[in-house]
Amino acid sequence: MAANLFDLTLHEARGLLDSRQVSSRELTQAILGRIMEVEPRLKAFVTVTGEMALRQAREADEAMAEGRVTPLTGVPVQIKDNMCTRGVLTTCSSRMLESFVPPYSATVVERLYGQGAVVVGKGNMDEFAMGSSTENSAFFPTHNPWGMERVPGGSSGGPAAAVAAGECLYALGSDTGGSIRQPAALCGIVGLKPTYGLVSRYGLVAFASSLDQIGPLTRDVTDCALVLNAIAGHDPRDSTSIPQGIPDYTRALEADVRGMRIGVPREYYVEGINRDVAETLKKALETLEKMGASVEETSLPHTRYALAVYYILAPSEASANLARYDGVKYGFSYKQADTMWQAMEKTKQHGFGPEVKRRIMLGTYALSAGYYDAYYLKAQKVRTLIRREFQEAFQRYDVLVTPTSPTVAFKLGEKMEDPVQMYLSDVCTIPVNIAGIPALSLPAGFVDGLPVGMQIMGKPLGEETILRVAYTYEQATEWHKMRPKL
Ligand code: GLN
Repeated sequence: MAANLFDLTLHEARGLLDSRQVSSRELTQAILGRIMEVEPRLKAFVTVTGEMALRQAREADEAMAEGRVTPLTGVPVQIKDNMCTRGVLTTCSSRMLESFVPPYSATVVERLYGQGAVVVGKGNMDEFAMGSSTENSAFFPTHNPWGMERVPGGSSGGPAAAVAAGECLYALGSDTGGSIRQPAALCGIVGLKPTYGLVSRYGLVAFASSLDQIGPLTRDVTDCALVLNAIAGHDPRDSTSIPQGIPDYTRALEADVRGMRIGVPREYYVEGINRDVAETLKKALETLEKMGASVEETSLPHTRYALAVYYILAPSEASANLARYDGVKYGFSYKQADTMWQAMEKTKQHGFGPEVKRRIMLGTYALSAGYYDAYYLKAQKVRTLIRREFQEAFQRYDVLVTPTSPTVAFKLGEKMEDPVQMYLSDVCTIPVNIAGIPALSLPAGFVDGLPVGMQIMGKPLGEETILRVAYTYEQATEWHKMRPKL
């Protein structure tokens, strides 16, 4: 077991809490101490909610004394700053929402509260979740605990860095095109993007509604299953929520892949992928083969269109979703304007950062009369083809395995001048959102001291199969036990 309380996994902490070896107050104080120690260098939080956390820890200790215990009771968590937390700032790392305190909580947050979680704060992110490095935060970039001069990935860079650095034991992120999996990979932790509709999005600030999904960032696969249990399930307040019951995901944690068929789509191993990353994946696949899975190369030719489709659809949806920030109802409002139109213009001009503006312009263009058929409609059609291609692949394979990101963590500033280079760091994750399927990233090795992630994709509602493959690999390796030296 880990030497420091802040290095524990959620399930290890559970053991210590249940056997009364530590209290939630002690665990929470250890985490708040860790935050004080590393946060000035790491910058993974927009808001630290120390007082609230200590109050929730006290309540958790009382609940545990009375025998009211869930897997999450008394354990510190960080929440990405695009999920509404009643009475606590929810900024989306944007000037537009810099002082927005929501009057309600997201369903996932309510669920955590209901299960006795201790919320230590809100995680830094790319503004409105648009980005792959957390450098688009309007406040400050987050650093990677494995190399302080590097990015943690994005857009859930704050949550991923916080989990990796021991500033919380797990976190909630959101994933529209890779924002949970890519930062999880770059920070050496586990991240899951569930099936579209499995986790309620009520209270998640919308970016691209047909792609957005909330999911866990954890230190190992067991924790991932525990957190998924806690947040998944139908919610009548989200019309895209799947109306059916959920299994106990921890039952999938069985180290056995004998007879499983793993497909390895070659399109994910070409263009732009770092050779050492590809080599690391090859070794990981050999491990799975040794454990009894059959591994076979396959082809998903439509993969090459996924990035283009995403950069039509996601900005189009964003341009509609972000129209609500008009300076009238809530959020930043430019006061010194002479006319209504000027007020609206100035509000957006000062409230949004450059990447958000770029997306709004791309989306508005793609949706405008005369271009709609050529861009938006065409992209929707290709989306259908991509979805079908995955459907067919899952008739032959139980899971598909790819790198999560074509490279390890890059340097801060390295891709800021070139948006297309930045967009390319999501080539491996974006097809998953386009198809609405689930995928998990887990640590699979290191290149030059930096973590490499392996992505396991499954069919819709195939979370259990994914977790089983991930768990089997994890049991055979030690990567998930590595902690960065800070
Ligand atoms: N990096 C991608 C983008 O910038 C995906 C972001 C996300 O998943 N929220 O849109």
